[in-house]
Amino acid sequence: MALVVQKFGGTSVGNADRIREVADHVRRCRDRGDQVVLVISAMGKETDELLALATAVSQTQPGREMDMLITAGERKACALVCMALHDLGVPADSLTGSQAGFITDTNHSNAKILEIVPHRVRAALDAGRVPVVAGAQGVSTDDDVTFLGRGGSDTTAVALAHTLNADACELYTDVSGVFTTDPRVCTDARKLLTISFDELLEMTAVGCPKPAMRSVEVAQNYGVKLHIRSAFTWEQGTWVAKEEPSMEQPIIRSVTPDTSEAKITIAGVADRPGVAAILFRELADAGVNVDMIVQNASERGITDISFTVPEGDIDMAERITRTVAEDIGATGVTADRAIARISLVGAGMKSHPGVAATMFETLSKHGINIEMISTSPIRISCVIRQDHADTATQALHQAFDLAQ
Ligand code: ADP
Ligand code: ASP
Ligand code: MG
Repeated sequence: MALVVQKFGGTSVGNADRIREVADHVRRCRDRGDQVVLVISAMGKETDELLALATAVSQTQPGREMDMLITAGERKACALVCMALHDLGVPADSLTGSQAGFITDTNHSNAKILEIVPHRVRAALDAGRVPVVAGAQGVSTDDDVTFLGRGGSDTTAVALAHTLNADACELYTDVSGVFTTDPRVCTDARKLLTISFDELLEMTAVGCPKPAMRSVEVAQNYGVKLHIRSAFTWEQGTWVAKEEPSMEQPIIRSVTPDTSEAKITIAGVADRPGVAAILFRELADAGVNVDMIVQNASERGITDISFTVPEGDIDMAERITRTVAEDIGATGVTADRAIARISLVGAGMKSHPGVAATMFETLSKHGINIEMISTSPIRISCVIRQDHADTATQALHQAFDLAQ
């Protein structure tokens, strides 16, 4: 008998029919002899809708109240799944994050799990019942409800799988696994049967939405067996493995487009020690997550610095950069939302020269200008104009022979 944590995401519980199908899926798994712990995310686009409601109602949006609001989406879906299970004769108990024992820090909207004390989850399992845990939430050390952040239900599932010493953590979603690129952009994207933690982490860090990056980190740190699969079929999905099992690694695993970043350029900066330190310290202290940074070659002691930040942080980043620009006598600041970052990821590129050259040639052949470049040992990313994102993704997917 296997103990499996199964997480169902937005689309998978998007309406009443889908919820009944999830319940039926769980019933079948139990009939097969498995013990199931469920983690449920908010229905469809409910998290976005709750955030929009908050924006319509409030300018201040206090963190404590925001978290109480957003986590309600998961609790509602959880109760509905439980009811559908009861209808099928499957005993089940819905549990809030707090009831499931998720203790977090006090960082509202992006709380970190400190500890999981899953007495009630274990008690339900011991009683032959299905614990149905509301994802992406916990209770803080100050006794307030906390939200783990966007995509936090994946993290709930993986962390719970580790704590319960489960045989596997299955993340069910609206595609059948992790693909060579976003299947919405390339219809011939290929499902990967296995992928290494390092590659998946790199992909999620540069914008692959599935699974949430934090959940991959937790799974890698604690050796949780992770299976990303379809909520609509029983086919095998993608298993995340410690290392690539085959002797010959493919050079490139995936092309990951990301249109959620924006770029800031500060122009006319004195090229002397300490200038970048002042700017990036101010940004870091404000919690802005800077990704790519490029400093131009200086001309007569003056240079430009460009960097990317998540689009949601652009207003704050622009404000901070303008203040710093005045202090250090820079000549101007521009913010550019219309960028895309396209990344190639593959552990095999460590031992294969020429990947960057092929990437740049492919983009050039399509008349796509590269504005910034960054690399890691297993990734190359280019910033380009956002309206070229789909063309670049399709061209690179083809150039590196990733299609099925
Ligand atoms: P869920 O709501 O189930 O947690 P998300 O909606 O956050 O899942 O993410 C699933 C979506 O991610 C898919 O519909 C797919 O279009 C998109 N996606 C983008 N890139 C990839 C990729 N490389 N592999 C799989 N899915 C991807
Ligand atoms: N519903 C939340 C979100 O969309 C949490 C999650 O699904 O993981 O971000
Ligand atoms: Mg989703």
